[in-house]
Amino acid sequence: MIFNFCSQRYKEIMRLPRVKPVFLPVPVGNGKIRIGGIDLGIAAELDDDENGCTRRLLELLDGLRTSDDIVRLMHEFDPTVTSADVMDAIDELAAAGYLEDAADDPPPGVFTARELERYRRNLEFLSHFHQPSLNVYDYQARLHASRVTVLGIGGFGTFVSLMLAAFGVGELHLVDFDTVELINLNRQVLYCEADVGRYKVDAAADQLSRVNPNVRITTGRTKVDGLEAARDCCRDADLVVCAADRPPGKIYEWLNQAALERRVPWVRGGSAGLTASAFMHVPYETACYDCVQLALYEDVPWAAPHARYMAEHLEDRSVNPCVAPVAGILGSLIAMELTKQLTGIETPAIAGRRVVCDIRRMEFSYVDGVRRPDCPSCAVAVESAAALAGQS
Ligand SMILES: [Zn+2]
Repeated sequence: MIFNFCSQRYKEIMRLPRVKPVFLPVPVGNGKIRIGGIDLGIAAELDDDENGCTRRLLELLDGLRTSDDIVRLMHEFDPTVTSADVMDAIDELAAAGYLEDAADDPPPGVFTARELERYRRNLEFLSHFHQPSLNVYDYQARLHASRVTVLGIGGFGTFVSLMLAAFGVGELHLVDFDTVELINLNRQVLYCEADVGRYKVDAAADQLSRVNPNVRITTGRTKVDGLEAARDCCRDADLVVCAADRPPGKIYEWLNQAALERRVPWVRGGSAGLTASAFMHVPYETACYDCVQLALYEDVPWAAPHARYMAEHLEDRSVNPCVAPVAGILGSLIAMELTKQLTGIETPAIAGRRVVCDIRRMEFSYVDGVRRPDCPSCAVAVESAAALAGQS
């Protein structure tokens, strides 16, 4: 049984090892067993031997027996198979992420039985990522312990909030000063006609509570009009989503400053007609907003005059060619990336990078952001790091 994965000892930490149900092993002929189906980057084909030892081992990894039981049964199946062979194979499968411990229990006192049933499909999804000694409940518990601020409950802000509530985030803090208008209903899916005239944060909180009453929802009926208001958005937040775009440019500058001060990762996104984009800034790890703008103004000749013109004229513009599917694509993409950041299942693909979606061709591309040593906003941290390095 040769799997060619890096080996690590998992015997001590898996009481009842089993192949994760999402990675159902399937014999596909020619002595091959496919594990992981069509999952990109995870699926693999294992070689069986002429006695079918690999297939037998995968059958025995059903979460109903200990590793010692499996060793004994494999030896009965094929007396030439040694204990070391079996343990190495189990270790390699575990190191590759295909195994979990069927004896894992949810953390005590975190979820009710009803929540565990509500989140069962989440747990199946999250089980793609964990390896012993983490268990799958840990990821859902991290999400449950997280507080996210959504600034702007409009187009994609409504989708982000809805997705995070359904996924089971612990707390959502909604910030918006606007009321629901009829013209919003083509894309702001949390609201219905009866909500027209209500404050968005109130209507959104009501609807999100109906979707998932386990999520704690707080609201701020305020306009972010300066650094202090941006600091309020970052207070106690594990992550901030900026789904507002006014005042143009300024709102990002304030939020960038506040997020750097409080070391809170934040995401900004938006759509302009046929293009949707998003960027996650992780303070002192990735490019901040000002790093990105410095590079943009140097590299793209029209960027600065365009930004100036928009800053002066956007308030007067009544055009906003956004439809529900575009808001949904952007909001769902951002919610997925937030979940990666909050749970630690993966590094978000948009951390330090701008994802750009060409809606017409439905193509995604990325533009890397680079941290700038001359960035006025990151400079303090750079100088501090240099000073610390000099002292050591
Ligand atoms: Zn910077």
